[in-house]
Formats: sequence, C-alpha cells, structure tokens
Amino acid sequence: MGSFLLEILDFVILALFVMGVLRKIGSLFRPTRINVRTSMGGPSPSPSSSPHRGEMARDPICGMFVSTELPYQLNRGKDSVHFCSRECLEKFQKDLEHVAS
Ligand SMILES: [Zn+2]
Repeated sequence: MGSFLLEILDFVILALFVMGVLRKIGSLFRPTRINVRTSMGGPSPSPSSSPHRGEMARDPICGMFVSTELPYQLNRGKDSVHFCSRECLEKFQKDLEHVAS
C-alpha cells in the first residue's frame, strides 16, 4: 500500500512540474500575441524617426515587430530597416535587386 501512495505522490509532483512548464511556455508566447495585436490595430511607430536602444521596428517582409538591437538591419539613406531574421533581410535585398533591374 505504501508504494501505491508513493506512486500517487510521484504523479502529483510530475503533474505540478508539467503545469509549471506549460505556464512558462504560455508566458513566453503571451508578449508576441500582444505585439501582433498592436501591429494590426494601433498606430505603428514611424520608422523614419531615428531608432533608440530597445525600440521596436516593423519587419517589412513578415510584418512582425522586432527589436532595433537585432543585427539584422539595412540602412537605406536616412531610414534603417529592421528584420526578425537573416532570411527576411536577404529576401528584402533580393526584392530590391528585382526592382533595380
Ligand atoms: Zn521577418
């Protein structure tokens, strides 16, 4: 009987652990959802203004907001364009080449 109780205790501890992990994952995903909402509705920050540290800029390829501290950025005259990933940056550069040619 004692081992049966221990098994229940193990199960409870495991369940609590899994719930904790799920909550952590949930809290990780929550901020991105808020960003998506603000990008859809609210007024977007003007990209022409010089970006400060920790500011968010809009990725023109996939439309998501990215930190201006990320290394994936491209300077176009006064404006700098920011990307979430190298893939988006390269896609943007390819699009520019298509326009130029
Ligand atoms: Zn992107």
